[in-house]
Amino acid sequence: MTATILDGKSLAQQIRRELALEVAQFQSLHGFQPALAAVLVGDDPASEVYVRNKRRDCQEVGIASQLHPLPAATSQADLLALIQQLNGNPQIHGILVQLPLPKHIETERVLEAIHPGKDVDAFHPENVGRLVQGRPVFLPCTPHAVVELLKRNDISTSGKHAVILGRSDIVGKPLAIMLAQKGADATVTLCHSRTRDLPAITRQADILVVAIGKPNFVTFDMVQPGAVVVDVGINRTEAGLVGDVDYLAVSAIAGAITPVPGGVGPLTRVMLLMNTLAAARRSSEG
Ligand code: NAP
Repeated sequence: MTATILDGKSLAQQIRRELALEVAQFQSLHGFQPALAAVLVGDDPASEVYVRNKRRDCQEVGIASQLHPLPAATSQADLLALIQQLNGNPQIHGILVQLPLPKHIETERVLEAIHPGKDVDAFHPENVGRLVQGRPVFLPCTPHAVVELLKRNDISTSGKHAVILGRSDIVGKPLAIMLAQKGADATVTLCHSRTRDLPAITRQADILVVAIGKPNFVTFDMVQPGAVVVDVGINRTEAGLVGDVDYLAVSAIAGAITPVPGGVGPLTRVMLLMNTLAAARRSSEG
């Protein structure tokens, strides 16, 4: 069997085109552009690239963006003061604080300081709680990217056994909630580093999502023939960027598979744009 490739890159391009139209309509109706403020503390090169790409995406679809670069030595109080200022600025609809933050800053305190209505990463406890209750305002970007990728490739999750590897707050845990929600209707198994006999569980997956940060961890023998395999992992190795799934080997047994790069990553960025437009819509409703 040769797996169908789930091409996140071209899907992201398509969604950006759709969003550009929606943003233009929004602007002509309301007379202002949706706007994102990106806060970058320190000079981590990877974070700089991420923020630059996110701002370029904004520009492509007509969302305004502003960058607030702060030195690595910025105090937590000064960062919180900037967030308060952005919370109170009616011209800013979404606030993004690029992670990781320097060690002297408490990430949770900072994420909780962002107004939930401007929390376009959906990390604020209020937004997490709303997600759990099935009435989200914003969906977290990476899990949303996985769900959208499945939906737009006509892969139904209803009644399927979805096995997720990794239980982080930004990927595995919220994705488990989203896939188990009414409407998605998957039966979900959430695995982590203490899970026993992992291959026996992954082999039961109709849909296998992998987000653990271990290069080429999922091998041929861990996959059920015909399964849909979504690789969230991004690992920098000497061979370049690779996912958590042994792509070549698993392609020979899966029914469909995401490549890395070009799978979930580009879609994740698009979800931030969707949330920023949603935040602007909410603010225009008062
Ligand atoms: P994380 O916070 O480091 O969490 C990793 C999770 O994997 C933990 O729950 C851990 O279990 C579990 N795990 C580790 N080793 C395992 C093993 N041998 N078997 C089963 N589970 C294991 O990672 P993350 O932030 O979720 O990121 C995961 C990967 O996704 C990384 O490669 C990251 O770069 C990538 N990522 C990609 C995107 C994208 O847009 N494509 C977005 C975010 C992250 P414990 O909880 O027991 O420690």
